[in-house]
Formats: sequence, structure tokens, C-alpha cells
Amino acid sequence: LTFLGIESSCDDTAAAVVRSGTGAEILSSVVEGQVNLHAAFGGVVPEIAARAHVERLDFCVERAMAEAGVTFADLDGIAVTAGPGLIGGVLSGVMLAKGLSAGTGLPLVGVNHLAGHALTPRLTDGLGFPYLMLLVSGGHCQFLIVDGPEEFRRIGGTIDDAPGEAFDKIAKLLGLPQPGGPAVEAEAARGNTARFVMPRPLLDRPGCDMSFSGLKTAVLRARDGVIAQRGGLTVADRQDLCAGFQTAMAAVLQEKTRRALDVYLESDPPVPAFAIAGGVAANQPIRAALETLCHARAVRFLAPPLRLCTDNAAMIAFAGIERFRLGHHDDFTLSARPRWPLDQTAPAMIGSGK
Ligand code: ATP
Ligand code: FE
Repeated sequence: LTFLGIESSCDDTAAAVVRSGTGAEILSSVVEGQVNLHAAFGGVVPEIAARAHVERLDFCVERAMAEAGVTFADLDGIAVTAGPGLIGGVLSGVMLAKGLSAGTGLPLVGVNHLAGHALTPRLTDGLGFPYLMLLVSGGHCQFLIVDGPEEFRRIGGTIDDAPGEAFDKIAKLLGLPQPGGPAVEAEAARGNTARFVMPRPLLDRPGCDMSFSGLKTAVLRARDGVIAQRGGLTVADRQDLCAGFQTAMAAVLQEKTRRALDVYLESDPPVPAFAIAGGVAANQPIRAALETLCHARAVRFLAPPLRLCTDNAAMIAFAGIERFRLGHHDDFTLSARPRWPLDQTAPAMIGSGK
């Protein structure tokens, strides 16, 4: 099966063509970021994002088809992110996909953006079910036991901020560029991890839930403490604050992953596997902490390449193929949803009016 995928739920406009038979092959993956459009505002402005998606979607689809060397006659379906995300952006993508489906007669498949992230290790490595997934991105942080293309058991997650959001806020607090993750990671690499010991929220409580807003406040206090004492921040202060923050983040994610593994391993999976996805999965020290843990527990560790960790349309095309293989697709009543928890992925929820 060969699918076109369309993604426009946040600040990346993306289109891709994926072919999947026994293995899966990404024929093309075009991602147009918008970081420059939002830079002046210190965060994604939904209205600007939506307009930019409308302007770029056609072009991204054209380029993805050209790079893949396919025409609509070569496709078996069109998959589009139908949520969750910024509603204006999601709508732009859904409208385009409906138009293309109407014009070509190709099946339309609405995809949950989070399912796209969560199924990525199947696209990259053909991973079998069930596996444990830590989805850790700009807007989300959750542990999922993935039992099937539409079967997700959420066993814990953040009760406030997402880690990516925390990285972005810390960067803002310290005057570093957005997106904050890579900037904070680069500073932390040169910092002293022992100088600022940050709290590790919720580690004293059982379960896999996490909290990161207190960590952000702790960095703010530490920063203000240094400024009050010395009138400003040196390069070393900034590096040490980043190192303290990232170390606490990695420690929390590692400990909570340890507990999530306990829950997952109880189900006695034939080939125990743990995968991470989402933009924060790009962070090397966090990746390393989780990989070490998995090796110690004899659990296979998978981390998709960076360009497939962050938002892209290849994961949407692939998730669309997986859904379509189950016999599921949508009609023109497919609606864009700002919120769409993954453990409610029942087909009837996709706005098909059934
Ligand atoms: P969601 O998928 O939840 O809707 P999103 O699409 O904004 O959110 P992604 O594109 O998956 O999220 O990831 C972007 C986030 O990942 C940003 O918050 C960014 O700071 C963070 N990030 C990227 N690289 C790194 C890194 N090296 N270390 C830590 N965080 C990172
Ligand atoms: Fe995402």
C-alpha cells in the first residue's frame, strides 16, 4: 500500500509518501518548519501557524509527490492528522485531504497525531506488538502500552507541563533561542551538573505520573538567586542551570520509565521492547539514561532517528496505512479535533457519525 500523509497540527507543515508491504519505505518526507515566523513571539501563535499551513500545504504535497516520483494513480489512500493540535492548522490539513480525496476518489483516513508518533518504531524497525512507548514531546508526555495500531493503554503521564514545553520555557528564562530543547542541551553539555540540584517531582509517589512545572519554577528561583547575588548571569551560570535542569529531567524520566517497565513486563511480552518518540527523544543524555535502564532490564531499546522523532508526515502516512489495513477509513464528515486522547481511538470516535 502507498499512502500520502499530511500533517499540520502544530508549527510544521509536512507531507510524505510511504509505501508499506512486508517492510515500510519512506519514499519522500517534506517538512516545512515555521520557527522563524514565531520567533519574535516566544511561542507558536495559532493564527500565524494556521495561515502559514494554508499557504504551504499544496506546495508540500506537490513536492512530496514529485520527490517520491508518484502520481495520484499510484496511491492507495490519503492519511491526514485529524487531531489533536491547534485547530486552525488541523482544519487546513483535513480540508486539503478531503478535497484531494473527493477529486481522486482515494480513501480518506483520519489519523491521531499521537498514534503517528507512537507507531513510528514500527515504521522504522518493524517493531512487533506489544511494546512500551514513552511519547515525550512539546505538548505531551505519556507512557503507552501499544497493543495494536489502534490499541493504546495509557499507564501514566504528566499532570502538568510536557518536558519539551519545560525545555522551551527554561530556554526563554535564560535568554536562549527557541526551540529550547537543542539550545538547553548544548548549554548543559558544558555545564556542571552538581552546582544546582533541582527537585525531582513526584518521585516520592508511586505510579508513572510525572510533573514538571515545579522544576521550571526551581530553575527560575535559582536563576533569580544568582542575579540577586551578582547582578547578572555569566555564561557558566547559564550552562550550570541548564545542566542542573536536564539532569533532574533525565532522572525523573528514567525512574518513571523503570516503573512503567514493571507494569509492562507483568504482561509477559514475547519480545520486551521499549521505544521513545517525540521531540525530546532527540536529547542525548535523556536517551542514554533510558537506554542504560533498558539494557539492565534486558529490554530492547528503540529510538527513531531525529527527523522521525519530531513532527513529520511519514508517521501520519504510515499510521494511516495501519488503520486502513484494519479496514478503517473515514468519509467527508471527518472532523478536526483540538483534543483527542489516544486511549479513545475507537473508529466511531473519528467523527464518521457512526
Ligand atoms: P506534540 O507532538 O505533543 O503536539 P510538538 O509537535 O510541538 O508537540 P515535537 O515536534 O515532537 O513536539 O517536539 C518539539 C519539542 O521537542 C520542543 O519542545 C523542543 O524543545 C523539544 N526538543 C527538540 N530537541 C530537543 C532536545 N535535543 N532536547 C530536549 N528537547 C528537545
Ligand atoms: Fe508531535
